[in-house]
Amino acid sequence: MNGPSAHGERTSQHDNLLGRTRAVLPSWLAIYYDEPIEIERGEGRYVWTDDGTRYLDFFGGILTTMTAHALPEVTKAVADQAGKIIHSSTLYLNRPMVELAEQIAAVSAIPDAKVFLTTSGTEANDAALLLASSLRRSNQILALRNSYHGRSFSTIAITGNRSWSPTSLSPFQTYYVHGGQRYRSPFAGLSDGEFIAACVADLRDVLDQSGGDVAALIAEPIQGVGGFTHGPDGLLGALAEVLREHGILIIADEVQTGWGRTGEHFWGWQAHGFTPDIVTFAKGVGNGLSMGGVIARAEVMDSLGANSISTFGGSPLTSAGALANLRYLLDHDLQANAARHGPVLIEGLRALGSPIVGDVRGKGLMIGVELVRPGTGTPGDPAPELAAAVLEATKRRGLLVGKGGLHGNVLRIAPPMTLTADEATEGLTALIAAIREVDGGLA
Ligand code: PLP
Repeated sequence: MNGPSAHGERTSQHDNLLGRTRAVLPSWLAIYYDEPIEIERGEGRYVWTDDGTRYLDFFGGILTTMTAHALPEVTKAVADQAGKIIHSSTLYLNRPMVELAEQIAAVSAIPDAKVFLTTSGTEANDAALLLASSLRRSNQILALRNSYHGRSFSTIAITGNRSWSPTSLSPFQTYYVHGGQRYRSPFAGLSDGEFIAACVADLRDVLDQSGGDVAALIAEPIQGVGGFTHGPDGLLGALAEVLREHGILIIADEVQTGWGRTGEHFWGWQAHGFTPDIVTFAKGVGNGLSMGGVIARAEVMDSLGANSISTFGGSPLTSAGALANLRYLLDHDLQANAARHGPVLIEGLRALGSPIVGDVRGKGLMIGVELVRPGTGTPGDPAPELAAAVLEATKRRGLLVGKGGLHGNVLRIAPPMTLTADEATEGLTALIAAIREVDGGLA
């Protein structure tokens, strides 16, 4: 719909919403597309822009729309709760918050689990770092190279992907270890077992340099912003064995990987044969509502030697919505749905055999396609300009996908987990056509 709306406001095409965005919001907020779009509404796996154009959403609002856009169960739970009370704070008993925490603890696979609710993944990781560093009385943190953990001062400080980190000042002494990604790793050519052994040796070397006085390792089981990259199954468990020798805690950042998205397990860490001390989550749990949190054994969670409060974390409104969302996910076994459709997408993309596709990887509905300059070997030279061109070409075909990776050359595919077989085919067909359009234009 163009022109004045029922309320006398004008749509983005006419009122220069992009110009107004640039004028009033920070220049460092990334925006997709040469002609950015304004998403006005969503339903199921589709979204519509202000001019009525429909797109199949293969990025799920950065993996945040976990079940579906406008899922009636979530919408109703939020509306019902808003009609009762929106906010009360952690100073009073809060039934939706407790019910949500109980549900999360029940599926956490963490023994004796307690849950602290936050409003974002950044805040969840902040809280996890606070817990670990105060428990271990150390400000030394281990993180994976190429990682991303948030945009606050402390989470930026431990983020391995330096393009997201504007400052070298840090409240932490951070050490980075190998294992988060394979395609561009110095250990890329090794077998799974050899790769894991090389990462363990690297960790031991880094620990020697640190003196061993480290609070925690934080790790994404599949790196999200880093381009949906991961090491072999079992890697984090092998690192955990070394860390346990020193009493070092392990934080699994499940902000992108949790809730069955990887298909094979409910949590990404479960592919690695160990149990983390602390797990952080956000994004999908609220289906778009601002919700995140920390899960830890009671002994770890309760160790914080100070009073605390959270004004917005676990608000009745977001808790009610997240609870409805999680119940839907569990009742409909969306993990199985991710396991069903993910391999079809991965195989379809691998079969494409395009000279600009250097690597197709991922698990379940979390798939990375790394674009490279043709004829530059393995790993090929990163091609962020080709990724940008494919992004534009998918948009022209009514498909939204994400982009990421250290070099900005990885397409990220992560549709809502209610994806149907027809939608998987529709998205794959559009994506293949877009890649073909770009690789065909290079001749
Ligand atoms: N951790 C991971 C793995 C993420 O991917 C992100 C966001 O992309 C964050 C933490 C930060 O979450 P938020 O953007 O909700 O603060």
